[in-house]
Amino acid sequence: MNKETTEIVKGLLSSPQNVAIIGHKNPDGDALGSCLGLSFFLKSLGHKTTVVMPNDFPLFLKWMPGVDDIVIYEKEIEKSSELIDAADLVFTLDFNSLDRVGDLQKVLENCTAKFVMIDHHQQPADYAVATYSDVKMSSTSEMVFHFMDALGEAEKLSKEIAVNLYTGIMTDTGSFRFSTSSPTTHRVAAKLIEAGAESAIINQNVYDNNSPERMKLLGIALNNLNILPELHTAYITLTQKELDKNNFKKGDTEGFVNYALSVKGVVFAVIFIENKQESIVKISLRSKGDFSVNDFARNHYSGGGHTNAAGGKSSQSLNKTISEFISILPRYKNELTHA
Ligand code: 5GP
Ligand code: MN
Repeated sequence: MNKETTEIVKGLLSSPQNVAIIGHKNPDGDALGSCLGLSFFLKSLGHKTTVVMPNDFPLFLKWMPGVDDIVIYEKEIEKSSELIDAADLVFTLDFNSLDRVGDLQKVLENCTAKFVMIDHHQQPADYAVATYSDVKMSSTSEMVFHFMDALGEAEKLSKEIAVNLYTGIMTDTGSFRFSTSSPTTHRVAAKLIEAGAESAIINQNVYDNNSPERMKLLGIALNNLNILPELHTAYITLTQKELDKNNFKKGDTEGFVNYALSVKGVVFAVIFIENKQESIVKISLRSKGDFSVNDFARNHYSGGGHTNAAGGKSSQSLNKTISEFISILPRYKNELTHA
């Protein structure tokens, strides 16, 4: 975090504040880890904090320290709105545009609090009085560590903070596999382990809690895998029927797209998941090398994210979405080359 932003934040936190901390819709390990880690940190400085998430999150993250105190907007609309309206400061973490919080957007747009953004996605919007944005960072959770450091408060790192930040870094880097894991990311992870984050236990909590239904659904997803070798692309589809048949729960499809990306020669992988309730197809995109799925998601699916991991949605039917996808792909043939 640069000097100017650090000074602004120091000023904002110079007396006890009422703080609301917000993550993005469909919170993942990094959204939760960064928000909860920051919450424990700001509490240790004497501020009052509440973490508000737009909607619920998967069971495999419900063990994280502090999750029981999270207020979920979709479940407690009035309480969340009151909390945000009463806040002096609103921290928005792991997203950079107010359209990433679903219906919570109008509450944030109408509140009078000052905003601070901590985020690592591309193209940050301009709504905060202090914007700590760095697209090179592995995760927002890593940034919270640097944020504490910049404020000169690194010694406030507790076990609760460490476990949350480690979980966020681990999940956003695919367990330190993606190119966003820098030497600094590993140094931060080492400090978090020293502060009490037990890597093996955190890995087990996140990755070894698969329900039989999720495993069955993975079988169906892999069966639905389509490979387009000449375009170095692979995609997976899941219909609402297939989800229903396997008692789909939030988070059950997390990571499925990575199997498509793991196919030899594939540099671009997509999963299309039908969501009849919201009348959309949710789309997750992943790539290897220079092919920007952030650009692809922005151009075709009203979405965004990072160069190698992005998301978006389509309001067309699943079949139409797929046929359009197949028809636009050849335009990218020159970029879709094996690295
Ligand atoms: P996932 O595919 O796991 O949902 O998301 C991959 C990355 O893209 C995450 O960093 C996530 O925050 C971002 N992302 C997912 N969906 C959307 C979306 O609809 N819009 C934007 N701007 N980013 C998204
Ligand atoms: Mn993230």
